[in-house]
Amino acid sequence: MKLAALGEVMVELAPQAVGPAHGVDGSKPLLRQSFAGDTFNTAVYIARSGVSVSYVTLLGDDPYSDEIQSRLQSEGIDIGGIEQLPGRCPGLYMIQNSADGERYFTYWRGESPARQLFAAGTQREAVKSRLREMDCIYLSGITLAIMQSQARTELLDFLREFRGNGGRVAFDSNYRSRLWDSVEVARDVVMEFLQQTDIALFTFEDEQALWADTRPAQSLKRNCRAGIAELVLKRGPEPVLLQRDGQLSAVDVPPVPKVVDTTGAGDSFNAGYLAARLQGASPLASIAEGNRYAAQVIGYRGAIIPRAENPVHAMENSPVARTVADTAV
Ligand code: AMP
Repeated sequence: MKLAALGEVMVELAPQAVGPAHGVDGSKPLLRQSFAGDTFNTAVYIARSGVSVSYVTLLGDDPYSDEIQSRLQSEGIDIGGIEQLPGRCPGLYMIQNSADGERYFTYWRGESPARQLFAAGTQREAVKSRLREMDCIYLSGITLAIMQSQARTELLDFLREFRGNGGRVAFDSNYRSRLWDSVEVARDVVMEFLQQTDIALFTFEDEQALWADTRPAQSLKRNCRAGIAELVLKRGPEPVLLQRDGQLSAVDVPPVPKVVDTTGAGDSFNAGYLAARLQGASPLASIAEGNRYAAQVIGYRGAIIPRAENPVHAMENSPVARTVADTAV
């Protein structure tokens, strides 16, 4: 099975020490540099499960873009779908920790080459040819938010063709309001892409922010009307909901004794879920895998666990799922 993830990888700068550790001279803590991005995080964990993964984006031709490509290759991820734009460099974001442990993000990504994804003048026909070889294409609301509107239409048309030929599309709405012109535009675009989605992996918090839902039942109903056949609704430590074939089930999230940092929880859940699904597991067994990946990641600082500390386990047995009525959620 082959999956391609579409999106943006950014340079990440995070303080080494927790808390606003100002020195006596007002200096800030030392920063640790790494790379991150929602679909990139998911791609890394899927690749670690042994599924063949390609990452599709645009980068520059600077040393950081070269490092990103080396980083992907070191995870065994195919980079043949990456185009390098001359004179450009990747987006950047910084993390700040407040005294109470909250994390704040500041982005410099307006000029990011990834914004040219599927745009006219890029090598998009070559990218489409590569994508046609895939079994599954994974993208997120962040991927869509950074794309130009004409390029989104081009991608939508391509996904229609891809699904017509038997390919599956997995989508996480990952709503980040700052990336969109307005909530109305975000809603319209997400609705269009829902029509071309086979597996929806949503977080209820994003559904609340995008659609002002107050109850999971509202998200389930709307996505069902949009024609989503397989819908997974993540809710932090609350049971994960699965709506499939008109049936709603809930799978408990095993308690995690020490939650260190929830960055990457949803991304790693998606990786566990998709890796298992692509290897033939049922949706319920795949939710158990998603929970297991996320439980490991939230026990560490940052979105990506060092490879040496991230062993691949054999898949666990199917979890016990409860059938629930949508009036209960
Ligand atoms: P979220 O994106 O916050 O809904 O979380 C995605 C997944 O991460 C959940 O479905 C759980 O598997 C896991 N997760 C998130 N927060 C917690 C938590 N506090 N305790 C245990 N698991 C969690």
